[in-house]
Amino acid sequence: MNDDNDPNNFNPRDNYESTKQAVGYISRKKATQADYDRVGFKSGLEVHQQLKTKKKLFCNCPAGLYNPKDEYDAEVIRHMRPTLSELGEYDGTALMEFKTRKQIIYRLKNETACTYDIDDTPPFPLNREALDIALEISLLCKLNVVGEVHIIRKQYLDGSIPTGFQRTAILGIEGEIQLKNKKVRLIQLSIEEDSCREISDIGHVRIYQTDRLGIPLIETVTYPDFSSPDEVREGAEYIRFLNRSTGRVNVGIGSGREDVNVSCRGGSRVEIKGVSHNKWIPELTHNEVFRQWALLKICALLEKKVKNKSTWKIQSPLICLGWISPGLRYKRQKIKNSNLLL
Ligand SMILES: [Zn+2]
Repeated sequence: MNDDNDPNNFNPRDNYESTKQAVGYISRKKATQADYDRVGFKSGLEVHQQLKTKKKLFCNCPAGLYNPKDEYDAEVIRHMRPTLSELGEYDGTALMEFKTRKQIIYRLKNETACTYDIDDTPPFPLNREALDIALEISLLCKLNVVGEVHIIRKQYLDGSIPTGFQRTAILGIEGEIQLKNKKVRLIQLSIEEDSCREISDIGHVRIYQTDRLGIPLIETVTYPDFSSPDEVREGAEYIRFLNRSTGRVNVGIGSGREDVNVSCRGGSRVEIKGVSHNKWIPELTHNEVFRQWALLKICALLEKKVKNKSTWKIQSPLICLGWISPGLRYKRQKIKNSNLLL
């Protein structure tokens, strides 16, 4: 850390390098298992996989048929607004989404969407073909299949599902997969409907295509048993190939997506969502675990520096980029007796 409090002497590059050294950062190429043990690397996976079925999960629209984004028969405009829950409270995320004042537009093509897809008809019975594939994969993962399937609603507030929730059901619990050096435990496998494809998100308007909406998906959730970035990737590859071994799942871009949860010792679980390539997992998890590790070190440093937290005032200079040259270099100078940098 740069202890020099004069903002004119602050060199971000030097500060970055010295902070990396101070927190014990090590590049991914040089990192060994001992480094990951030192920071307490911990990670778990949620693997989503589209199933290859003729129809969608809760209606009779075809699954896996995609329309070009400018080809549609109708548009539905939707405004999301928060309502009171049964407990008499507003959901924080719902309020936050409401404040963005987004206008959501759904593009519909007759052949790939019906009134169920836009929340105008109750669901049809669960697709048995999808259930059969999901149960086959559950058994391959040594999961205990549930005695009764209960379909529940999971809140989805970004607008990517017109109803505002995703219908999902847990099919199996407590399984395991065998990796090269260890067994990784599985929490559960559930079946759920895919969300809309986002076409654009500009200003206050977000546009979705409804062709992907409702395609059956399975979600395989592991315990946080992975202890290095390469191990997370190995687990993701294993689950991907296990799903594909049935020959009954979709392949290609967007048919399999992962959410990767990562934390370090003393850190908090951070979810990296929608990772569409397994090869990205090691770099992403490595960077995230060291980012958290660095934050903890900075936190400790502040704890030492700031004796009385209640009276602590953050001092920050306002930087005005008065003039930016074509080469993005800017002149700055400090006004006498002021924190304002020009
Ligand atoms: Zn439909």
